[in-house]
Amino acid sequence: MTQSLTILGSTGSIGTSTLDVVARHPERFRIFALSGHSQTAKLAEQCFIFRPQYAVTANEAQAAELRTHLAAAASCQTAVLHGEQALCDIAAAPETDGVMAAIVGAAGLPPTLAAARAGKTIYLANKETLVVSGSLFMQTAAQSGAHILPVDSEHNAIYQVLPPEKGCLKQNGVQSIILTASGGPFLHTDLADFPAITPEQAVKHPNWQMGRKISVDSATMMNKGLELIEAHWLFNCPPDKLETVIHPQSVVHSMVRYADGSVLAQMGTPDMRTPIAYCLGLPERIASGVPPLDFATLSALTFETPDYRRFPCLELAYQAMQAGGGVPCVLNAANEIAVAAFLAGRIRFTDIARTVRHCLEQDFSGSHHSLEGLLDLDAAARRAAEAFVQQVAHR
Ligand code: NAD
Ligand code: MG
Repeated sequence: MTQSLTILGSTGSIGTSTLDVVARHPERFRIFALSGHSQTAKLAEQCFIFRPQYAVTANEAQAAELRTHLAAAASCQTAVLHGEQALCDIAAAPETDGVMAAIVGAAGLPPTLAAARAGKTIYLANKETLVVSGSLFMQTAAQSGAHILPVDSEHNAIYQVLPPEKGCLKQNGVQSIILTASGGPFLHTDLADFPAITPEQAVKHPNWQMGRKISVDSATMMNKGLELIEAHWLFNCPPDKLETVIHPQSVVHSMVRYADGSVLAQMGTPDMRTPIAYCLGLPERIASGVPPLDFATLSALTFETPDYRRFPCLELAYQAMQAGGGVPCVLNAANEIAVAAFLAGRIRFTDIARTVRHCLEQDFSGSHHSLEGLLDLDAAARRAAEAFVQQVAHR
C-alpha cells in the first residue's frame, strides 16, 4: 500500500531530506501536500517533481509568486493555498496518512497539533511543538490515537534502543536516557572570544547540515536543552533521569542506560535521512542514501561533560523543564526572538542567553492548557524578548 504524505516545511533542510528518501521509494509513498515559506521557486520545483494535490505558503504574496512559477508547467495541477488554516487543513485532511512536521519554530505548532487531533501518524522533527505544548500535544495524540514517531536524531536513536513496549520506563528496567550533543562549533573556543562570534561562524556546524535557527541553537546548546524537554514528553521521562553528554564526533546519536548496567546506543553517519527513513519505513528498514559508517576511518569516539559557563542556555532550558507549566513556552519564544536578532546582526552571541534569562525572570499570564493560552503566552514572551533585544542591540 502506498502511504500518502503531507510535508510541512518541505523546502527546509528536513523537508528536502525527506523528499530525497521519498524519491528513492516511489512504490511506497505519494505526496499529498507540500508547504514552504519564502523559497517559492524551490517549492515550485518540488511540485513539478512530486505532483502534490496542494502546496501551501505562509502568506498571499508568496502564494501569488508560487502560482506564477507553477504556470510555467501547464501540466502541473497543484492547487495553491496560503495561511495557517490551510496548513492545518493539509495536516488533518482525510487523504493524508502521515505528516512530516518540519516547519521551524513555534509556527509549526498549529498544523502539528491539527495532525494530532486528526489522529495522523506524525513524523515529528519540529521539536518546538513539544517544548511549547508538550502536555497538550501528548494528551491530544493519546485521545485521538495519533502515532508520534521522533525524527530528531537523538530521540530517534532512543526510540530505536528502548524496549518495544515504551509505556513505563521503570518497569522496563530503564535507568536513564542519555542524549549526546556535538558541542557545536565553539566547544573549544576561548570564552573571552564568545562576544565576537559572528552569525557565519555560528551556523557552520562541524557535523550536520541544518537550517540556520537550529544551527545557532546547536552552537549555544539551547538545541540540547530543547531536546531534553522533547525527550521528557516523548518518553514520559522525569528530568532527573535525563543526562546530556558531549560527543564531538556525532556518531553515537543517543543511548539508554538499563538497570543491569547495559548501555544501548544507536550509531550511524550523521545524516538526517537515517532517522527519516527509519520513521517512514517502519516496521521495515528502507534505503536512505546515507553512506555506511566506516569504522576504519573513525579515529576515536570521545565523551565529555557539558560546561554550563560555556553553554548557559543548556542550564536555562534544564531549569525551564523542571519548572514546567508555561515556562518552556517562554524559554522557546525568547530564544526564537534572540536567535533571529543575532542572525540579523542586532545582538551579540552572548546576548542570546541574556535575553532568555531576562524573559524567564518575568511573570507572564497565559494558560498552558489550551492552544489559545499558549499562543498568548508565546506572544507576551516575544514582546518582552524584543524589548530586551532593543535595549542591548548594538548602538
Ligand atoms: P529550515 O529552516 O531549513 O526549514 C524550515 C522550513 O519551515 C522551511 O520549509 C520554511 O519554509 C518553513 N517555515 C519557516 N518559517 C515558517 C513560517 N512562519 N510558517 C510556515 N512555514 C515556515 O529548518 P530545518 O533545519 O529543516 O528544521 C526544521 C525543524 O526540524 C526544526 O524544528 C528543527 O529544530 C528540527 N530539526 C532539524 C534537524 C536538521 O538536521 N535540520 C534535526 C533535528 C530536528
Ligand atoms: Mg537533534
